[in-house]
Amino acid sequence: MPIATVNPATGETLKTFRPFGPDEVEERVEAAYRAFHHYRTTGFPERAALLRRAADLLEEELPEIARTITTEMGKPLTAARAEAAKCVKAMRWYAGNAEALLADERPSDADVRDSGAATARVHYRPLGPVLAVMPWNFPLWQVVRFAAPALMAGNTGLLKHASNVPQTALYLEDLFRRAGYPDGVFQTLLTGSDAVEGILRDPRVAAATLTGSEAAGRSVAAVAGDEVKKTVLELGGSDPYLVLPSADLERAAATAVTARTQNNGQSCIAAKRFIVHADVYDDFVERFTAGMAALRVGDPMDESTDVGPLASERGRADLEELVDDAVERGADVRCGGRRPEGLDRGWYYEPTVLTGVTPAMRLHREEAFGPVAAVYRAADLDEALEIANDSPFGLSSNVWTRDEAEVERCVRDLEAGGVYVNGMTASHPALPFGGVKRSGYGRELSGHGIKEFCNATTVWRA
Ligand code: NAP
Repeated sequence: MPIATVNPATGETLKTFRPFGPDEVEERVEAAYRAFHHYRTTGFPERAALLRRAADLLEEELPEIARTITTEMGKPLTAARAEAAKCVKAMRWYAGNAEALLADERPSDADVRDSGAATARVHYRPLGPVLAVMPWNFPLWQVVRFAAPALMAGNTGLLKHASNVPQTALYLEDLFRRAGYPDGVFQTLLTGSDAVEGILRDPRVAAATLTGSEAAGRSVAAVAGDEVKKTVLELGGSDPYLVLPSADLERAAATAVTARTQNNGQSCIAAKRFIVHADVYDDFVERFTAGMAALRVGDPMDESTDVGPLASERGRADLEELVDDAVERGADVRCGGRRPEGLDRGWYYEPTVLTGVTPAMRLHREEAFGPVAAVYRAADLDEALEIANDSPFGLSSNVWTRDEAEVERCVRDLEAGGVYVNGMTASHPALPFGGVKRSGYGRELSGHGIKEFCNATTVWRA
């Protein structure tokens, strides 16, 4: 895959980049390693000042970087601005909270005595240079949600970004440099995915985090396993969205439209499978379909656009194959199911609602990475949970109900890293984010995220 900016709204190649050669990669890995030995000894106030400076710069430059994001991967400009603003918030959150999150932990006096110690504590130390393999769908946010906690903990970062967002990748390195971070603390490696194995096997690289597809995750985890290196994997999702009889249907349907089509439908935590109780099925499907059909598809630079193009021609072709397979096997197209007329140059696809989805269809088990909703009818909560859990993925989940017993049942039984009640899944710096099953392992954000790349060191004193 060439390292290039190709505008998804036009298909035009705007800029290509030469991938780094082995010497350039070596230079940066060595710089990350050397920088770590000093940077790990800095205190939280110093690290927080650097991160706050990066947040301030990003805030000042927000309109410009938002345009770069939209140009490289096609999300509506309004969404790109919101993404950058979210990064500013997360940077400030970690600058303000990292020290408390990583404070020494002390066991109870009784447990300390029982261990034979006069004192005992757990002290969090950084691991070293961490390789971050990142996707294009939230090209700023995915990186910042790794970098903000990792750098606050005292690690250094090496970013291997997706090949279609090189300008955003280079912007990030430049942002941290201009914020005053010492050389080598955060660097971008312009390389293809074929270079990842060599970098990860380098003894100077301590750990890796990957956000992306299951195939990429499996490949990185295999190498890391072979090298006995820590990994965090944030992979795909096909989140269920349960609508039960006591739900506020108007809000559930309106939120479902946003939850399915945010980021042009290319979000890991987008609701993708809508599982609706038979009592409210017809009403919900009617409202949801009307909402999906009313969305404005078009130029992502236009402020009034709801849904822009998919990020790549391949991505659209994959989505079309999933829809075609479902239709061939008997799914009903309630709206969409085709490319929009008059938008021939970019990789557009109409917001689509499919009903009558069954386990025989690929759509049932595979992730639809675009604005396509699979709708199921469930006779009761038991069946809704059965359909929801009949997926290789387990990232997040959504349930709409006013019944407390149903909420608790879903919290107990949904196989997912999150249960969002009467709302859609959205990440927040204070809340852990991650999945189970084929959606990956480990957590980002919150105290859980910052500790992933720390050495929890037991300090025992007689
Ligand atoms: P992708 O093809 O897996 O790419 C993600 C990153 O991995 C890119 O930097 C890519 O580099 C690299 N990569 C690909 N194959 C690799 C391999 N064999 N070894 C090492 N690195 C490899 O995924 P994508 O299509 O860009 O992103 C969409 C997927 O990401 C979806 O499944 C989505 O659900 C998932 N995602 C998950 C989360 C989450 O938090 N759980 C968040 C966002 C997205 P190149 O670009 O150079 O190929």
